[in-house]
Amino acid sequence: MSVRVQRTLAQSAEVHGIGFFTGADVKLRFLPAPENHGIAFQRVDLPGTQPIPARLDFVVPRQRRTAISLGDATVEMIEHTMAALAGLQIDNCLVQLDAPEPPGGDGSSLHFVHELLEAGIVEQSAPQPLLVIQHESRTGSEAADCQVVAAPIPRRLLAITYELDYGPRSPIRPQVLTIEFSPELFVAGLAFARTFVLEQEVQALKAQGYGTRVTEKDLLIFGPDGPIGNELRATDECVRHKILDCIGDFALLGCDLQGHIRAYRSGHAMNHAICREILASQAEVAVRAA
Ligand SMILES: [Zn+2]
Repeated sequence: MSVRVQRTLAQSAEVHGIGFFTGADVKLRFLPAPENHGIAFQRVDLPGTQPIPARLDFVVPRQRRTAISLGDATVEMIEHTMAALAGLQIDNCLVQLDAPEPPGGDGSSLHFVHELLEAGIVEQSAPQPLLVIQHESRTGSEAADCQVVAAPIPRRLLAITYELDYGPRSPIRPQVLTIEFSPELFVAGLAFARTFVLEQEVQALKAQGYGTRVTEKDLLIFGPDGPIGNELRATDECVRHKILDCIGDFALLGCDLQGHIRAYRSGHAMNHAICREILASQAEVAVRAA
């Protein structure tokens, strides 16, 4: 990861669709923002509420998604929008939306990436802060059989290794992938990777009134023999999506990250936990300008 300056959009961009979770129609706008603004989400359907900074401090506990909240406003499932922005190294952006969650698109980050690239990206003057991992830190759960380790790396880059293994009976094959982050790698190798769920998980969600407008064409739903009514875009699409999720979640640090993150079966809550560990263990190392 080379020394770089902050970036924002050249002009606004708009994405329409439905929210996967709530099923709400939603119009989302990406607006350029000044240096050191960071990423923030604003619910324009809740007049008078403040933009919510997309930072760890504003994350609220949720299952299987990342949500942020401030005052009376909450935005659910921000991870694929965050991944698109972080993946393109767009550091300053106000995201306005008129529903509780961004449009789900096809369950990947492609619908955002297309519009953001179309709008264009411009460099600003201020350097983007870089957090260099100098000590190993880890978090995990024996009960859930998952772990994340953050370790130093001698090169100026962010490497992510993700290992996915749901056991021999799962229709999702074990997969492991290591990437060295760059916007080019993100666009070509990660942005297309879609959300995946098991058939029984969808049934459970729908029974609770969630995901009622989601069909097997909108994301990957795995039955016993693989994706139902859909085809994989890559044999390891699932692990690529998990790395996409990591990139969206690590962006909650609000800076670039140098280190090697090794994740085994982690989800959003554990991604947030390792970010907190990284911040705590690096307490003596101030986030410094690149
Ligand atoms: Zn995801």
